[in-house]
Amino acid sequence: MDSLLELPGARLRSGRAQRPRGRRESHGPASYTRRILVTNPARTNHNVRSAPGDAARDVWTREVRAQYARFDRRAKAWLDDYTRAGGRVYCASGCFRCCDMPIRLSWAEALTLSESLTPEQHRAVREHARKVWRNAHASRTPDEYVERHRREVGFCPLLDRETGSCTQYADRPTRCRDTYSALPAFLCAPDGPAQLSRSERRRYEQVVRTDPVMDGETHFIAPLEQLSEPAWVAFSKLMRKGLGFELWGDFHYLVAMTMEPDFHAALALRDRKKVIAALRKAGLYHPEIVQVE
Ligand code: SF4
Ligand code: SF4
Repeated sequence: MDSLLELPGARLRSGRAQRPRGRRESHGPASYTRRILVTNPARTNHNVRSAPGDAARDVWTREVRAQYARFDRRAKAWLDDYTRAGGRVYCASGCFRCCDMPIRLSWAEALTLSESLTPEQHRAVREHARKVWRNAHASRTPDEYVERHRREVGFCPLLDRETGSCTQYADRPTRCRDTYSALPAFLCAPDGPAQLSRSERRRYEQVVRTDPVMDGETHFIAPLEQLSEPAWVAFSKLMRKGLGFELWGDFHYLVAMTMEPDFHAALALRDRKKVIAALRKAGLYHPEIVQVE
């Protein structure tokens, strides 16, 4: 086990006041953890006129991939500066302990990822989505939802458990891209902090609270999560212009819905109620894990 005492912090104390807090909560169901996106469709430049399923879908996926590339460039620059200044990031190839977290994404991202999946992966995602649905019904609190998701719903089916690699690395959602750990990977596991002794736990809590790269509650790197904000806003605009509303939800849940023709038909009508009806018909509706807003 790495020592917590060797972790970053002392050199990088500025800027804490600007950091958003609780960003990891956006892994959870959105009614508990709703990401507020400020949207001004009048300012958008996206040339989207209809719901995806036709040429507009290509516009969406191109824009999503452009946002991913933009984020990746900015994240690399941030990471280069951070490590040059002595900061340490614990994420590495083959490290996957975070891949059992519930993840929220936009419909635009779901469509993009869906394009790259094999039929077998689509089936696995669908099965995973059903587990997510069952968990949403069984959980009584946000914490229970997240806890059960990690322990019972389990790892993302797009993870290669033998190599620890993401089989859809290029098109993985924003939340998968902006998750970086400033502390050792064992702490990313659901029982990670519980492995610490009492004094290590106190030290952990102090580091998380006071280190400016962390969000005050977890050891994930907050400035990198901030860098993804333009992507969230871009997806929000894309959906408002193309659908007339925004569609957010659980990662596997929304990707599963990309394969439902009735759902696409409902989206094409730009009618929020019909969209929800299509979700119900597919047996995949739960207001906690999909939001039409
Ligand atoms: S966030 Fe944690 S589990 Fe995920 S890659 Fe980084 S160190 Fe590994
Ligand atoms: S898409 Fe890839 S990075 Fe994201 S949770 Fe799944 S396996 Fe992990």
